[in-house]
Amino acid sequence: MHRTPPGSSPEDLGQQTLFDWEDAAPAPPPGGGFRDGPQARRMLDVRQVYAEPAALASPRGRQILARLPGVPVTEVPGHWRIPSLHGNDGSVARWTRVKTETLVLGVKQTLTTRPNGRSADWIAPGASNGCAMACAYCYVPRRKGYANPITLFTNIEAIVAHVRRHVQAQGPKREPNQCDPQAWVYDIGENGDCSVDALVCDNTADLVAAFRRLPTAKASFATKFVNPDLLAMDPQGRTRVRFSVMPATDSRLLDIRTSPVADRIAAAADFLDAGYEVHFNLSPVVLRPGWQQDWADLLVHLDDVLPGRVKEQAAAEIIMLTHNQQLHEVNLGWHPRAEDLLWQPGAQEVKRSENGALNVRYARQVKSDALARLRELIAAHAPWLRIRYAF
Ligand code: SF4
Repeated sequence: MHRTPPGSSPEDLGQQTLFDWEDAAPAPPPGGGFRDGPQARRMLDVRQVYAEPAALASPRGRQILARLPGVPVTEVPGHWRIPSLHGNDGSVARWTRVKTETLVLGVKQTLTTRPNGRSADWIAPGASNGCAMACAYCYVPRRKGYANPITLFTNIEAIVAHVRRHVQAQGPKREPNQCDPQAWVYDIGENGDCSVDALVCDNTADLVAAFRRLPTAKASFATKFVNPDLLAMDPQGRTRVRFSVMPATDSRLLDIRTSPVADRIAAAADFLDAGYEVHFNLSPVVLRPGWQQDWADLLVHLDDVLPGRVKEQAAAEIIMLTHNQQLHEVNLGWHPRAEDLLWQPGAQEVKRSENGALNVRYARQVKSDALARLRELIAAHAPWLRIRYAF
């Protein structure tokens, strides 16, 4: 069913507030923000919305649709399986079109926070699932298939309230750990990219605003997209952005539709000055002939361009590539050159996961040798870069 939902005009929305004023997302800058410009539209140019009725009726759902005038809306019973949308049928041309032009609005039913202990202390319930980008190694599409556009969860008030309760229940962090010496760290972007979500929705801004008022906790998310609108969100040190980096030659082949790595690095100082903590994800590390030289060059580049104030607070996660047999087979159909890098049976071992999927990762010795070498390269070229964890 196609329809334009009632109550989604800007006037209607002016009557509604999701939060009290202290939590509110910042008003867009006069003349529109980055999200209204041509670069943002190349990433996301929504022409079709699929939505659960409850999402359509929610204030956040109506706010999103008010920014998409004239875009047809198809009601769906659930955001999880939309036969005409999800799955692996179709060429990459269709996948990237789906990712660019389609948005799904849903209500997140189960709100749980899971312990993590590596990248973050906790994984918060994400405010989205799916991504407009199309990294060849991405694990996010594993359940919906590659044509997995952004699903935004419109019950953001419930998500924020859940996280707030969870933070309060922990009390202060008593033991420093590698996640953070003082704050409980909550990953808010496990299944998507918060910077891209912010092109169409204030969920990211609302989460940043919520953590501003949680002095014992910190939000954290990884990103491969530079969205300057995030600079106006005033995180006051309570949100950590982790720019993912890898050698540009790998990124051009593997990180489809993302911001160039050099742009992510160049943005670090602006994000720090805007009140974010800025870390880096060295990930995924892909082993191939020449990887050591290219990672050394990347580390030299980081050392050359980052100002001292970024280096002083920076830390990094190192994540070696893991892959998946099913994803390998899908990728062979649209991007076989990526598989020349990602699929290295001679160096990888297979492990069946709890859900039966065949995952591959570098064999134990290969991985530990590579990690040792990468640590040496960091010590030689970017000794200021503290490694939070490597795995
Ligand atoms: S940016 Fe992240 S979530 Fe998006 S496709 Fe790449 S790895 Fe997946």
